[in-house]
Amino acid sequence: ATTGTADIGVTGLAVMGSNIARNFARRGYTVAVHNRSAGKTDLLLDEHGSEGSFIRTATIEEFAAALSSPRRALVMVQAGAPTDAVIDALADAFDEGDIIIDGGNALYTDTIRREKAMAERGIRFVGAGISGGEEGALEGPSIMPGGPASSYEVVGPMLESISAKVDGTPCCTHIGEDGSGHFVKMVHNGIEYSDMQLIGEAYHLLRGVAGIEPGPMAEVFRDWNTGELDSYLIEITAEVLAQVDAATGGPLIDVIVDRAGQKGTGRWTVKSALDLGVPVTGIAEAVFARALSSSVPQREAGQGLPSGSLSTPSEPGADFAEDVRRALYASKIIAYAQGFDQITAASVEHGWDVARGDLATIWRGGCIIRATFLDRIREAYAQTPDLPTLLAAPYFAEALAGCVDSWRRVVTTAVGAGIPAPGFSAALAYYDGLRTERLPAALIQGQRDFFGAHTYLRTDSEGSYHTQWSGDR
Ligand code: NAP
Repeated sequence: ATTGTADIGVTGLAVMGSNIARNFARRGYTVAVHNRSAGKTDLLLDEHGSEGSFIRTATIEEFAAALSSPRRALVMVQAGAPTDAVIDALADAFDEGDIIIDGGNALYTDTIRREKAMAERGIRFVGAGISGGEEGALEGPSIMPGGPASSYEVVGPMLESISAKVDGTPCCTHIGEDGSGHFVKMVHNGIEYSDMQLIGEAYHLLRGVAGIEPGPMAEVFRDWNTGELDSYLIEITAEVLAQVDAATGGPLIDVIVDRAGQKGTGRWTVKSALDLGVPVTGIAEAVFARALSSSVPQREAGQGLPSGSLSTPSEPGADFAEDVRRALYASKIIAYAQGFDQITAASVEHGWDVARGDLATIWRGGCIIRATFLDRIREAYAQTPDLPTLLAAPYFAEALAGCVDSWRRVVTTAVGAGIPAPGFSAALAYYDGLRTERLPAALIQGQRDFFGAHTYLRTDSEGSYHTQWSGDR
């Protein structure tokens, strides 16, 4: 079939696709653009057509004809069935060796399936996680491409060129085979859920225990953003808290309905973690906390349930705020440790060989969870590539040691004050769980052997044991 001159094509020109198309054009690439309905193509070219070299196409056939060989097309349409429809149409119009990149939020198992199906048709398929929202898409996102290394050789340089850069290093690297890119993007989103929940709990405690109002609290977060918590989410939290509502003259946050939405990547992360047997308790609590916030009938029925006697510290001042900051930092470390464990487990199961240090490197910029602290994770894996847990890295072990007293005080205070802090509590319980030499799992093994003859291992000898329990029937 005919080919053209475009270096890259983008199909799906909603917020993400149109901004990525502009990003490519601004970097000097000739970009063929296509959208199912012409309106979005017109809008993009009318408003931004002068930013670079665009080729307008109205049909998939025109789109295919506009692309140079081997064709490279980025699909930025709604995840799920729309993505399948677009990929199939592209494959019909493309030739052997052409490359389709799916930059949507696909479920990684869909990516594995799609890559197989495309390979059978001779089409190379790259499932690429893209983070950074609308602004990242335009200014430089964090990109996590999967698929064979040979495909990355062709599309990698272009993706690296539009990605964010930190210290001159692109926030884009080849992650591994098939679904690995979308998998790590999914876990990235899970960590994002956890990070957001923890910040939410910090806000709730600062307000509920220390009585700090949103305006002054914005200053607290701005201050936190100058230290080890320095991150995009802390930065925007300060902005959200500082926002005054034009209608009421009060803090905007006080008129926002307190029901958190979700699009599914957090839920996917937890489902996958359950299958892999990896305890991502921080992420799970964050997903469930959003679900609880949206459980309207249950919350209505829960109003007025007795709290029991509550207690709050008599003088919660600057010390309490510092305790909360440390609890937040420690819990955040746990969320990352759990997320990286999940990536490790999936990498082993699927043979992806994901380099965790590289992942920390490309999450430093462009994406929603970008944070200075990712440099520490990168260093930890550079020092010890096969770290069993992030918590074992000297830097993080020391950081947690410096936070743990504050962390306990905050969880205790939250329980005393009747303020839910599932993220802080679950993270601390996880930390204590790993620290504890003898867990009550021994009792569970005893129970399992009692009722189901499931056998148990002994601490003092090899082999499986079953006991004739005195209560055995
Ligand atoms: P979106 O609202 O998810 O999708 C809208 C786009 O999909 C439109 O271009 C629409 O075309 C197209 N589309 C829907 N059904 C289609 C079908 N059956 N056939 C062909 N095209 C179809 O757009 P978005 O927010 O820009 O996101 C694009 C992708 O990036 C999604 O997978 C999303 O999950 C992912 N993502 C989004 C963000 C974000 O911050 N928004 C961040 C990272 C990743 P029409 O104009 O013709 O309706």
